[in-house]
Amino acid sequence: MPEQPTEEQKQQMAAEQEAVNNRVGRIKNRILVLSGKGGVGKSTVAASLATSLAEQGCKTGLLDVDIHGPSIPQLVGLTGLPPGLEGTGATEEELQPMRAADNLHVMSIGFLLENPEQAVIWRGPMKYNLIKQFLKDVAWGDLDYLVVDSPPGTGDEPLAVAQMLGSPSHALVVTTPQELSVSDVRRCVTFCRKVEVSLLGVVENMSGFICPHCGVETNIFDSGGGQSMAEKMNIPFLGKIPLDPHIVAAGDSGVPYSQAVAETPAKQSLETVTAKITTSLKA
Ligand code: ADP
Repeated sequence: MPEQPTEEQKQQMAAEQEAVNNRVGRIKNRILVLSGKGGVGKSTVAASLATSLAEQGCKTGLLDVDIHGPSIPQLVGLTGLPPGLEGTGATEEELQPMRAADNLHVMSIGFLLENPEQAVIWRGPMKYNLIKQFLKDVAWGDLDYLVVDSPPGTGDEPLAVAQMLGSPSHALVVTTPQELSVSDVRRCVTFCRKVEVSLLGVVENMSGFICPHCGVETNIFDSGGGQSMAEKMNIPFLGKIPLDPHIVAAGDSGVPYSQAVAETPAKQSLETVTAKITTSLKA
C-alpha cells in the first residue's frame, strides 16, 4: 500500500498547485508539443512554432521539459548560458527565463546542467518536482503563448505537465509518416482525450524530400501516414513538413530555422502549421 500523504503534505501540495495555477493563469494559450517517440522532430516543431509566434509580435514562452534530451537551448542558440536572475525584475525565489529574441523567452533543463553531455538519471519524484518548478517558479509574466516541448511518449512526465498546465490547454502531436510512428500517435491522441487537453492536430514531419535542384519529391520515410491516421481518428491534420537538410544545419548552428533560410517548402509548411494553430485558437 502506498503511504497516504499527511495533512501537512496535502496542504503543501494544494499551496503549490495554487502557485502553479496563478502562474499559468497569466498565460493566454498553453500548447503542449507531444510525440509518440523521440527523434521525430518534436523539439524542432516546438522551437519553430514559438519562434514564429514571437516574430508575429506575440509574447511567447518556450519551455523545454524534455528532461532526457533537452535540445531547445541548442535550437534557439542559447547553449551554455546559465539562467540569470538579474535584470528583468525576477525575485530571489524566481527563475528568470532566457531571452532568445524579441518576445521570446526560454527555460530548459539544459540551462541547469553543468555539462550538456551530462546524462540525466533522475527518479520520478525529482522529474516531477523539476517540472513543477518550471511552471511555478519561472518568471514568465503575462504571455500570449507558452509552447511546452514535452518528453516523448505518454508516460508520467507528459502526464505531469498536462495536469499542471490545467484547463484549457492544447496539444500538437508530431509524427513521422511511417506506420511505426503513426501507431504511437494513436496513444498520444488517447492521452489527450484522457487528460482533457484539446488536440490542435497532427503534424507529419520528415514527410518526403523535395530535391532542391530538380524539384522531384522522394518519399524517404513514406508520406501521408499521419494524414490518413488523422482523418481516420477525426482529428485536424496541420500539415506535412518535408525533410530539409537546412533544418539539421540550422539546429546544429543554433540559428532558428526560419531565419537560416529564405523560402523553402519546409519553411512554408511550418508557417502554415503556425497559421492553422493561431486561427484555431482564435476561433
Ligand atoms: P525530437 O524532439 O522528436 O527528439 P528533434 O526536433 O530533436 O526531435 O529532431 C531530431 C533531428 O532531426 C534533429 O537533428 C533535427 O534537426 C532533425 N530534423 C527534424 N525535422 C527535420 C526535417 N523536417 N528535415 C530534416 N531534419 C529534421
